[in-house]
Amino acid sequence: MCPDNAVIKLEPGNRYAIDLDYCKGCGICVAECPCGAIEMVPEET
Ligand code: SF4
Repeated sequence: MCPDNAVIKLEPGNRYAIDLDYCKGCGICVAECPCGAIEMVPEET
């Protein structure tokens, strides 16, 4: 459901990663995840 296809499915057992080059921080994945497994944190500068 990520509009930017920034959620990447990794090899079996390694779950998922977020491609930060494409993620715009919209928060849709956090709002829609049925397990509450995604947390947004401020970007470190
Ligand atoms: S915050 Fe938005 S752009 Fe980033 S991974 Fe989630 S749905 Fe995709």
